[in-house]
Amino acid sequence: MTRPEHRSAADHASASVAGPGARPRNDWLLQVEDVRKSYGPREALKGVSLAVGPGEFVALLGPNGAGKSTLFQLLTGLFNADTGQVRVCGHDMRHAPVRALGRIGVVFQQMTLDLDLTVEANLVFHARLHGLGRADSQARIADALQSLGLAERAHDRVRELSGGNRRKVELARALIHRPAVLLMDEATVGLDPASRRHLLNEVLALRANGVAVLWASHLVDEAEAADRVIVLHKGKILAEGSPQALVDATGADSLAAAFLQMTGGTEAATPSLE
Ligand code: ADP
Repeated sequence: MTRPEHRSAADHASASVAGPGARPRNDWLLQVEDVRKSYGPREALKGVSLAVGPGEFVALLGPNGAGKSTLFQLLTGLFNADTGQVRVCGHDMRHAPVRALGRIGVVFQQMTLDLDLTVEANLVFHARLHGLGRADSQARIADALQSLGLAERAHDRVRELSGGNRRKVELARALIHRPAVLLMDEATVGLDPASRRHLLNEVLALRANGVAVLWASHLVDEAEAADRVIVLHKGKILAEGSPQALVDATGADSLAAAFLQMTGGTEAATPSLE
C-alpha cells in the first residue's frame, strides 16, 4: 500500500476530506451554514458550515481558541451569528428559537446542577421547564437514572455525587425531553479517565436511538470512535471525515498525529482513556 504524500496544514485548509458541499442528505437534524461571528475586530468563526444527521456522533475537535465555545453559544441560542444560519430539525435559531431550542439537549462545560437539590429534584425542575407533566416526568427520570446506573442515588443531594456521576445526571437532564440533537461541550473536563470513558460510551450508545450528537473536545482520543470528525482551527474547518479518512489524508499514523499536523502542533492533548 502506498503511503499518502505528506501534506501541510495549509493544504488541508483548502482540501476537506468530505466538506459540507459533499453532503447528499436532506435529513440533517442540526445544520450550520456559513456562520460568522466576531468579537470586535477578532473573528472567532470565519464561515463555518457543518451538519449532523440522525444517529450520528460527530466530534468537533479543535485546540483552545479554535472557536468551539463560540459555536456552541450560537447553537444554544445564547447569541446570534453575525451572518449565516443555524437550524435544528429545520427550525431556524434566529426566527424560531423556541422550537429550535426545544429539540436540543445540552451538557455544558461548566456544571449547572443545583448542588443542594437532590438528583431527582434537579431533573424534575428541568422536565417541568420543558412542559412535561408530573407522571411523565417521574417515569422518564426513573428510566434515565436506571439506564445510567444511578437509580439508587435519586434522593441524594448532587453535592454527595462524584464528578463522573454529576456529569451523568447532566446527561440524563439533557435527554429528559427526548431531544433530537445532543450538544456536548467539552463535557469531560475535570473527569478521571474511567469516568471520561463511561460518559463517552453512554453518549456513543445514543446513536442507536437516532440522536444526533455533536461532541466538542480538544482531546483527540475522544474522537477516535466518532462517525465523523470535524477539525476546527482558528475559526475555520480544516478537515472533515471519518477518523480513518483524516489519518489517510494526512499520511499520519494516528488521529492524534493527523490533528497535530493539521493544527500546527497547537495544544494537542491526548491523555489515555484507558
Ligand atoms: P474554544 O472554545 O475553541 O477554546 P472560543 O470560542 O472560546 O474557542 O474562542 C475563539 C476565539 O474568540 C479566541 O480567539 C478567543 O480569544 C476569542 N473570544 C472568545 N470569547 C470572546 C469574548 N467574549 N470576547 C473577545 N474574544 C473572545
